[in-house]
Amino acid sequence: MNIIMVSSECAPVSKVGGLADVVDGLGRELQNRGHTVSVILPKYDCMEAAEIIGLEVEMPDLWVPCYTQPIRCTIHKGIVHDLTCYFVDPQSDQKFFSRGVFYGQKDDAERFAFFNRAVLEFIFKADLKPDVIHCHDWQTGLIPVLLADVYSKLGMQNIRVCYTLHNIKHQGTAAPKALEMIGLNPKEYMRKDRLMDDSKPDYINLMKGGIIYSDSTNTVSPQYAWEIKNTDEGYGLEKILNDKDFKYQGILNGIDYDTWNPEKDTFISKKYGINTISDKEHNKQALREKLMISQDNKPIIAAVGRLDPQKGVHLIKHTLFYALENNCQFVLLGSSPDKEISEYFWHLKYYLNDNPNCHLEIGYDDALAHLIYAGADMIVVPSLFEPCGLTQLISMKYGTVPIVRKTGGLSDTVFDANSKEGKRQNGFMFNDFTYAGIEEALVRATGLWYKNPEAFKAIMINAMQCDYSWNYPSESYIKLYRTAMES
Ligand code: ADP
Repeated sequence: MNIIMVSSECAPVSKVGGLADVVDGLGRELQNRGHTVSVILPKYDCMEAAEIIGLEVEMPDLWVPCYTQPIRCTIHKGIVHDLTCYFVDPQSDQKFFSRGVFYGQKDDAERFAFFNRAVLEFIFKADLKPDVIHCHDWQTGLIPVLLADVYSKLGMQNIRVCYTLHNIKHQGTAAPKALEMIGLNPKEYMRKDRLMDDSKPDYINLMKGGIIYSDSTNTVSPQYAWEIKNTDEGYGLEKILNDKDFKYQGILNGIDYDTWNPEKDTFISKKYGINTISDKEHNKQALREKLMISQDNKPIIAAVGRLDPQKGVHLIKHTLFYALENNCQFVLLGSSPDKEISEYFWHLKYYLNDNPNCHLEIGYDDALAHLIYAGADMIVVPSLFEPCGLTQLISMKYGTVPIVRKTGGLSDTVFDANSKEGKRQNGFMFNDFTYAGIEEALVRATGLWYKNPEAFKAIMINAMQCDYSWNYPSESYIKLYRTAMES
């Protein structure tokens, strides 16, 4: 099969969160299985250009419709982590992707609407002929719309679009001018059964467009697929998902075991595996040394991720104080575009600056993330909702025991130490999104670490033995593509 992924992120060249890991990991797995895979991305000025091998101009003059004045784009091509990637670089005063950030601009909807039009114009002009275009999140929601209503009439009618929702809270609602900009008549789309946003009828909803116009829609875990279809976690798109029920499912994410693997990891102090698990201790020491934490016989509890209300920031803060009051150590690596949250954690960082039992690193640091996964004993993921969650999957591969809230992909992948069910117990789980809720799990996890190290080690090994690679999920995607192609 010839598959083109279209995404706003791809690790390691442009990564904000899990979406980047998924595009990279799934793309590589499909390629390893003999499929032709390429990825089309914006050419951000802030991307990690050093991660691209052989970057060159593929198409110098791609004229992309934009209101009445087409914009000239240059398409670059290069290899990222073995995958062929194309980068869309618009040459205009708007500087869509040259603003030093990936997201968070007032005109995000227009930036990505333009990207969608440029992607299809490029596929058309370069005559790429994919069997399937695999689109991700709201930033690519207009691709199936443009394909159905513009490019299918230009000979691209045999291309199928699979659309994956990585986080339904972010839907890309915007003024209809984003459609006009790329040559679509807003009047035709401002209908409930098309792109009109259900709660703000003056707005369009790009994710809704992606769901309605794609050949199949999926999200990134079976439990989250159920939650967003049947509860208010669908943020207003429940009905649309129910309407699409027969072409809708959850496919659990995997992680790339070439990138996330303590046996191969070049970022960590000492490589280890299940049979050399005691070497994990070297990484614990290295982590403490790096972050200037005291070398005491205490467990390290970590948190890695975006500091977004979705991630339970108040419960992360509560874990920090629980750790300090209960003979544990705590490490945080996270960042937030939200000024208030960011300032709060900076304040905490200064307040705890001299405390030898914790370290707060505010920012994005891939190398440090690897060392934390390898060096910590436990990781907390106390999310309000979690489409899949990669941090618990990565931690498990490193024998770092996850303490998670029972929601979405977390409840599909973590099986509680005290559960009587037949699953392999590989972590700790709690239900209530409260201090008491997480504390109950922290008491059990840290209690076991102190009182019964052998039982704790058994959970670590269970976690390391889980197969959360792309091996199985990639088969589900191949089936999904084939079904779309046969429709
Ligand atoms: P989300 O996609 O909601 O942000 P996931 O758990 O699916 O959360 O994926 C998060 C990914 O981003 C993981 O690979 C994690 O290691 C990485 N990550 C998140 N925050 C940081 C950070 N501050 N520094 C380095 N890596 C980070």
